[in-house]
Parts: sequence; C-alpha cells; structure tokens
Amino acid sequence: MQDASAPQDFTTIDQLLALVDALPPVRRELAQRLFEMVETEGVIVPPSDMEPWLARTFGSVEATLRQRIIRVTNRWTFEGATFNPLRSRRPGSGTTQAAQSGPLTMPPELRERIQATEGDDFCDPEHRTPADSFGRVRGQRVVTAANVAKAEGWHSVAIFDRHDPLAIDAALVADLLLVAGEWAERAHEKDDPARYFFLLWNCLPRAGASLIHGHAQMTLSTVMAQARVELWRTAAARYTEATGGDYFADLAAVYHGLGLTVPTRDPAVTMFASLTPAKEREFVLLAPPWRADGRSPTLETLAQPLAAGLEVMLHTLGVRAFNVAIFGPPLPGDPRADEWAGFPLVARFVDRGNPLAPTSDIAALELFGSSVIASDPFDVARSLRAGES
Ligand SMILES: [Zn+2]
Repeated sequence: MQDASAPQDFTTIDQLLALVDALPPVRRELAQRLFEMVETEGVIVPPSDMEPWLARTFGSVEATLRQRIIRVTNRWTFEGATFNPLRSRRPGSGTTQAAQSGPLTMPPELRERIQATEGDDFCDPEHRTPADSFGRVRGQRVVTAANVAKAEGWHSVAIFDRHDPLAIDAALVADLLLVAGEWAERAHEKDDPARYFFLLWNCLPRAGASLIHGHAQMTLSTVMAQARVELWRTAAARYTEATGGDYFADLAAVYHGLGLTVPTRDPAVTMFASLTPAKEREFVLLAPPWRADGRSPTLETLAQPLAAGLEVMLHTLGVRAFNVAIFGPPLPGDPRADEWAGFPLVARFVDRGNPLAPTSDIAALELFGSSVIASDPFDVARSLRAGES
C-alpha cells in the first residue's frame, strides 16, 4: 500500500532532495537522519567535432552539457551510491540494456555458452560432487553438495535440477530456500557453534559464478556472521543507541514515504528499491522478527516475494547476470542472541549488467569508494510494483 502522500509514477532520482523536503516533518527528519543526500552538477565543454557522437549516444548534446548527479550515503552503514542516469547510455554501460529498450531476448552467444557446458559436474551431482559429512539435503528441484574449495568451515552448494541457470521459477526459489534452511539445521546439529547462515546466489560468470549450471551456495559460520552482515548489525545498534529509534523500522518507513516500497502478499515483509545499491537495480526484502501473527519469519517467508522480484528482473527488465544474498540473525541459542534482537531476515538482489560485456561493472570506486549507478531506484520500484499487481 502506498501512502496517499507518497509520490506516484513519474518520480526520478534527480527529484530526491525535493521529495525529501516535501515529506511530512517526522518522516523528513528520519530520512535525513538515515541518509546524507547531496546533489551536484557536472559540466562538460565538448568540441563541436564531438557533437554528432554525443547526440547519437546520449539523445541530445544538451543532455550532456550539465549533468545532475545525486549522491546518497547511509549515515549508519556508510554504504553509498552515486546516481547519474546519463551513464546508462554511455558506451559499454554496465546496466542491462533493457533499461531503455524493453526485455532482452537471450543473446545467441549466451545461449551457446550455456549449452556448451551441458554435461558438467553439476549435471550429475550424485556421482561428481562430494557430500557433506551429514550427507545431502534433497528437495524437489535442488540437491546439496559440499563445496570442494570451501570459503568457510561449512560451505556447500545447492545444485538446481536444470543446467540452464536462467530456468528460474517460483517453485525453484521455494525449494532452494527450503533445502538451504534444512542444510543449515543439519550442519548446526553436527557443529553446535556454527549458527550464522548466509546464502549467496551468483548467476552466470559475469556475476562471479565459476560454473554455469544453476546453483546457489550456503555458508554457516561460527563466532561472527559474514563481515558486512555484522556491519549492518552494528549500524543498527549504533542507530538505536544514538536516536532511540529502530533502525530497520525507520528505514522501511522512509522508503515507504518516498514511494520506493513495493507491496508484498505478506504484509510483514518490506520490499524496496535501494537508495544505496551495491550495484544496479538493487532491491531488498526485510522480514522483521516481530509479526502481528506471532510467527517468526523463516527462509520460506522470503520465497514468494523474492521469486516475484526475480520474475520482474528476468522477464520484464531482461536481467541475466545477477547476485542474491540472504542473511539474518543467528540460529537460536546463540550466546550473542541479545546483540541480534530485532535484526530481520534479509534478501538483497543486484543486476550485474550485460552477461557478455567485456568490461567489469565493478571497479575501484565500487570496491573502495561508493557504487556508481546508472539505474534509477524509482524505475526499479515501478517495475517491481507493476509485476506484483
Ligand atoms: Zn550442468
């Protein structure tokens, strides 16, 4: 549900500061408490020889002369993004081309690349992948294997039944989350201190997948969660200490007020297009531990909204290479449980752009500075909302 006051439809990221100014005072204060938002202008002075190319590439020369740049920083996590919609039109842009031109059909070269690797080890997991010490978790569509080169004491692969990594539907997502949850329980039974679950899903080599065959991975850590998950936790704790507010509830309220949330079938789950995306078209799902019906969220709580978001990304926006991460508080009984009170179950998605692009979409700015983003979060939210209705 959108606020009556929430901006509708034609909003773009370069209106962000005006939108925040127009919020009711309490929300405006929350937005400014959570985010630093800076608007700057960049100017170019092109020689006339360049003008035909600029017009061809960016639609008009005028559009390039004065460029509005919006920089958003989360004051608590210090995640930040710089938006310049003009960048999506530059040559070799990192965004999936569908941003301007509608859904991508599968490029023949990508189709060939996927087909060329058919018959790989993941096509025969029972014989060609190792099991964990407790065996395998077998779902309808997904089976687990121990990761051969582990990045964590417990690090396994959830191998999909289809080789094609883009053969994704709601049943696959639901089965993946069911199997991943069961895997975490089984690993934890074997190894009591291992309690911090993280799921990573890299689709296609462009997004970091070393094997094309559809798969996701899970880790279960001891002592601490993955570093950036701890970063979110400590940010939320500092926020509460400094302001008395609930970080995740306030974050959801600000996204809602700005018209960046997407209604979900389960009203306890908040979905929004991020203002500080790690990369293109980030959407986030938050399932807080408190619920009106008294039930705690489980990984399966995220299945339907995640599948709905993926559907829009893949079939409406033409995304092919993407990353998903899922994380939350530790499994019950953790000695640090108090520190995690109020921490939601989280899913994050990013588009990694053209799967065949020769250049990387992640460079020094992304690694050491802030992310440079071509996609507009208000467009992302609109697309997701259209998919939900
Ligand atoms: Zn395969």
